[in-house]
This record gives sequence, structure tokens and C-alpha cells, in this order.
Amino acid sequence: MTTLVWFRNDLRLHDHQPLNEALRAGQPIIPLYCFDPRQFGQTAFGFPKTGAYRAQFLLKSVADLRRSLQTLGSDLVVRVGHPENIIPELVKAHSVEAVYWHEEVTAEELRVERAVETKLAAIGCKTEVCWGATLYHPDNLPFAISRLPEVFTQFRKQVEQHSTVDVALPTPTKMLPLPQVNPGTLPTLADFGLEAPNPDSRAVLTFEGGETAGLARLNHYVWEADCLKTYKQTRNGMVGADYSSKLSAWLAMGCLSPRRVYETVQAYEAERIRNDSTYWLVFELLWRDYFRFICAKHSNKVFYPSGLRGLLIDWNQDRPRFDAWRNGETGFPLVDANLRELAHSGFMSNRGRQNVASFLTKNLGIDWRMGAEWFESLLVDHDPCSNYGNWNYTAGVGNDARGFRYFNIPKQSKDYDPDGLYVKHWLPELIDVPPAKVHEPWKLQPVEQKRFGVTLGVDYPRPMVDLHKSVQANEAIYNAAREIG
Ligand SMILES: Cc1cc2nc3c(=O)[nH]c(=O)nc-3n(C[C@H](O)[C@H](O)[C@H](O)COP(=O)(O)OP(=O)(O)OC[C@H]3O[C@@H](n4cnc5c(N)ncnc54)[C@H](O)[C@@H]3O)c2cc1C
Repeated sequence: MTTLVWFRNDLRLHDHQPLNEALRAGQPIIPLYCFDPRQFGQTAFGFPKTGAYRAQFLLKSVADLRRSLQTLGSDLVVRVGHPENIIPELVKAHSVEAVYWHEEVTAEELRVERAVETKLAAIGCKTEVCWGATLYHPDNLPFAISRLPEVFTQFRKQVEQHSTVDVALPTPTKMLPLPQVNPGTLPTLADFGLEAPNPDSRAVLTFEGGETAGLARLNHYVWEADCLKTYKQTRNGMVGADYSSKLSAWLAMGCLSPRRVYETVQAYEAERIRNDSTYWLVFELLWRDYFRFICAKHSNKVFYPSGLRGLLIDWNQDRPRFDAWRNGETGFPLVDANLRELAHSGFMSNRGRQNVASFLTKNLGIDWRMGAEWFESLLVDHDPCSNYGNWNYTAGVGNDARGFRYFNIPKQSKDYDPDGLYVKHWLPELIDVPPAKVHEPWKLQPVEQKRFGVTLGVDYPRPMVDLHKSVQANEAIYNAAREIG
């Protein structure tokens, strides 16, 4: 008899319950990864669902997992196709007794999972489904997911007071050889109609997929560069590799488990220093947990235009204006620099994400789902719960949205990029504009434009909206929706 471990967004060997359970069963194991073509289709608004940055990260992560399994004496079986077809075929061909996997919480993933379960039940194969994406296990929460608090702070306080984090499971050291199965070859980007992205030297980091690179990044950030002790002060930065942990992509693809990150923070606190910053990294992991639990609680609502809150806002879907936003041509340097960073690197800081999302929804009044899908397509760290949850929140349709709140772009620019280093990094056309003027190029007189080598409307766009008037107009639309709601 054989067991099968279906790897999904959990491309690691450490802290992996399905693998641990299968090993405990003591039978030969077929470790499997399926590239599901549906994940490489198009989003509703017509973007590649998995763009080249994340696809490349995924391919590297799967390759790394295969190498690690080979080192243990096994291998990774790789297939391209629908898991609900591939898994039952393998089960039948190799007399598989039980299939183990990590469960997901969002619609597309659940649909696949249920289809697999139904087909396996029909052929009498057992299934064992584990929870493994969050820091806190749902069994350790002080409430059932159905009674999860709707406000993050309430969730956090109760969890911090009453819950404990389980110890991360050990990494296996040895496995039985792979049964007689053709391991299959890894697809390439071209197989999914994608081209390898051009590496851009301005990117914060080269995000290399896989558990090996994820653990190396964790080690670098925490121990080698010793950045954890100042995380709270630097986390709102936008330039460079180490202002924040940059662990999100490895966490999203499950190359790193949040419990492993947590244990590293604990070890650091014991060996070096325990302060606000060390606490704050765990605090951010709690946000990540919260969005996942909220998605589990509210099912598909996070994807509806009216969001978790059920607020029917009259969004527009003005494509030319949306295109100006996504191409970084709005005329507002902070917004444009961030969107160009995303397009050229697959990453954007949290500060940037908040600003561009606020601008899209509160200044342009554009359907937040277009922004969320653009992020989904490009972000190397896309995670449906964190992405759609955060977009709900910034668009004002999140569960604990506090009325119409927006980011004041010029103020944010001056607070978080006082010397204009970030905007100049991504907008070379503004390189010679003095820091005091670089965030508001629309105020440059013709003579200044000449002096600083930038002609508005030619080298750099004029602002596409009046910030003040556009916010007022969109606030009125928002308030009208609240009255109806
Ligand atoms: C509109 C919008 C969309 C977003 N989409 C995603 C997404 O698809 N995937 C994603 O992982 N994060 C998303 N975030 C959250 C956050 O911006 C990123 O997690 C963070 O920028 C990643 O950089 P880091 O790893 O250096 O974060 P750090 O600041 O070092 O934080 C450590 C970890 O905590 C978690 N975290 C931090 N902030 C948040 C948050 N607000 N919500 C959820 N988890 C958080 C991440 O796992 C992160 O790796 C989004 C935020 C916004 C405003």
C-alpha cells in the first residue's frame, strides 16, 4: 500500500503536517505537485492570472522541493493538469490507500479540493486534510471561526491572551524511495505562454523561489543583517532589501511556515534582544492569519464588489484611467513609482500598496477588484486572503472599515520619502528635480521644468485628477452607498 502527499501552497519540508502524517503511516509515499492550467488562465478583467514573476517563483519552488525530496531518497512527481483527474489516476494505478494535503479557504482552491475529495470517495480512497498556513491553528483559537471577531484588534487581543502557537513540525531526514512512478518533467514558463521577466537591478530583491532560498532570507534578515531589532522603525520604507523582512512570497507559497518564522523570532529574542520590533513582526503575521480566518468565515464575500461589508458602491470601470494607474502614469510620483516598481519587479512595499490602492478607489473611484486582479497577476507574493482582504479594507468594503478613509498622497510622499529617493529610483525623468519639489511636479513653472529637464505632459504626465475634488466626489458616492446599505 502507498500514500500520496499532494503539495499545494506548502512547498516545503519543514513544518509540513501532511508529509509528517504520511511518514508516520510508514508506507511508500508519492509526493505530488500538479500545475493546474486554470491558474494560468486570465482574470475577469483580462490579466494573466499568474504572471511571469510568480510563475517563475513557483517553478523554482517546485524544483527546490524536488531536489530536497531527492536528497531524502524520494522524488517529487510533477504533472500538468487538473488535480481532480490526476490524483485519482495515480491512486488507481498505484493502489494508494490515503491522500494527504493542506486545506485552503478560498473559492477556487476549495472547488478543486472538493472535486478531488468526491472522486477519491467514489473509489474508496481515504483522505486526510490538515491545516497549515497560519501561525495559530484554528483549534487553538479562543473562538470558533464562525464567531471570529469582525475587528482585527479584538481578534488580536483575544488570541494574544488566550492562544498558543504550536511547535513547528520537524523536517524529515529520510524517506522511502519513490514507488515505480514516472516523476515527470518540470514545465517551463513558455509552457504557460509566459516569457521570463527581465531582471531589473532597481528591484528590492531577487526573489528566488523555494524553501532553501526562503530559509536563507529569514536567516539573512534576522541573524546576519540583524534587522529584526529595528523592524518597527524601518518597516514603512520603500527603498532597499532590508527595510522589511520580504518574507511574504515564501510565506504565500508555503516555502516558509509562519511557525518557523515565529520560532526564529523567539530564538532571536532569547539570544539578542526582545523589543517592540521583534513583537511587531509577529503582529504582522497576525494580520496575515486574520485575513485567512476572515476568508474562512465569510467564504466568497471577500471577492464580491460589495466586499465583506456588503456595501454596494457605484464603482466605475474606466479602462483608460485604470490603464494610466497600472502603467504608473497618473502624474502623482509616489503612485507612479510604486506601480512601476510592481510592473518591473513583481513587488511593492506595504506603504506603496496602501497608497496606490487608496488612489485607485478614493481618487479615481475605480472598481477595487480591477486593482486586486492587477496585483494578483503581478505580485510575487500574491495570496488570495491577504490580497483581497487588504483591498477590501483599503476600498472601504472590509469587515471593519471605518467610514471613508483615504491616503493624502502629497503628505504620504513627504512623510515616507522626504528626500524623493524612492520616486527618483523608479522615475528617472524626475532625477534632477530638487527633493522639495519632486513630489508635486505639477507645480513646476515652465522655467523650472526647463532647468530640471522635465517637461510636463511630455516627459512626465500632468496629474490625472484634482486630489481634493476627486476625494470629495468619491466620498459622496461612498456615503450614498452607506445610506442605502
Ligand atoms: C492592497 C494590498 C494588497 C496586499 N496583497 C498582499 C498579498 O497578496 N500577499 C501578501 O503576503 N501580502 C499582501 N499585502 C500585505 C503587505 O503589503 C505585504 O505582506 C508586505 O508588504 C510584504 O512585505 P514583507 O514580507 O517585507 O512584509 P513585512 O513588513 O516584513 O511583514 C512580515 C510578514 O507579515 C505579513 N504581513 C505584513 N503586513 C500584512 C498585511 N497588511 N496583511 C497580511 N499580511 C501581512 C506578510 O506575510 C509579511 O511577509 C497587501 C497589502 C495591501 C495594502
